[in-house]
Amino acid sequence: MSTQYTFTDPTKLYADIDPKSQDQKEPGLDAELTPKAALGEDTYVGSERLKGRKALITGADSGIGAATAIAFAREGASVAMSYLPEEKVDADRIAGILREAGATVVQIPGDLREREYARTLVKEAVEGLGGLDIVVNNGGKQIFNEDVTTLSDEQFDDTFKTNVYAMFWICKEAVPHLAPGSTIINTTSIQAYSPAPILVDYASTKATINTFTKALGQQLAPKGIRVNAVAPGPIWTPLQVTDGQPDEKVDEFGEETPLGRMGQPAELAPAFVYLASAESSYVIGETLNVNGGMPTP
Ligand code: NAD
Ligand code: MG
Repeated sequence: MSTQYTFTDPTKLYADIDPKSQDQKEPGLDAELTPKAALGEDTYVGSERLKGRKALITGADSGIGAATAIAFAREGASVAMSYLPEEKVDADRIAGILREAGATVVQIPGDLREREYARTLVKEAVEGLGGLDIVVNNGGKQIFNEDVTTLSDEQFDDTFKTNVYAMFWICKEAVPHLAPGSTIINTTSIQAYSPAPILVDYASTKATINTFTKALGQQLAPKGIRVNAVAPGPIWTPLQVTDGQPDEKVDEFGEETPLGRMGQPAELAPAFVYLASAESSYVIGETLNVNGGMPTP
């Protein structure tokens, strides 16, 4: 069986996953993605790198968040999962995989755009897991728009609420519970540095997340809490087929990278594991780019 430790030619790894144009209604489901994304279900092998840790992950039902949840559980962590109620089918499947790995799992569906949900999410995660020491802000919204004059105030607001405000609210609620050694990991994007003309609102939130991470990382370092970020490149997830890109672009998604292919959520999970684990003890305010080779500042 090949695992995340198996050496392969990275240009060939997952290169047979070749999606065609498709469209789903937001927020989209991994269950309906064709072909299926690789979440590490069949490949990720843990080695107790997060033994006994308690993690809250937003957007843990699908894509990068689900791959991270699987990796965390197999590394020995318990996981509180945040997602939208309409993603129950994805969330239940992932929860099953986490429980198979021996993890305690708490499912806390809700809407990240709502202030009150951030409060109850952190409270229920702490109660359900018996504490908290890893927070992964991964839930996100991306809807392409070609013309700023038609970019609705509502979309602009929703994108910032989901990607930026929720991260702030969750950090604010979580920090009082985080003991020294805890970590916060935010999810930014290649879009923070190379913004697409059709992602004005989304790309702006991702630049904000990078800067938020660097400022908060310095503020919390003296308390022994480390804040870092992961910046994915083009990754095969429901986000992309729910108008994250124009449908016809799905065919060529990821071909612009030096590796010449899109990435899979399973390739992101080890970056989150590293930043959550004690191995990254001297790493703070860093953005770990996982993007197939696209240059970043
Ligand atoms: P995804 O659709 O699998 O995950 C996004 C998740 O966000 C959803 O599953 C959903 O649970 C959550 N979410 C969205 N709106 C919400 C709301 N209002 N309330 C609660 N939850 C909500 O897609 P993904 O690509 O795995 O996205 C995960 C993160 O990765 C996002 O922050 C995204 O911006 C970032 N990212 C993705 C890519 C990519 O190419 N897929 C590239 C760069 C960054
Ligand atoms: Mg989802």
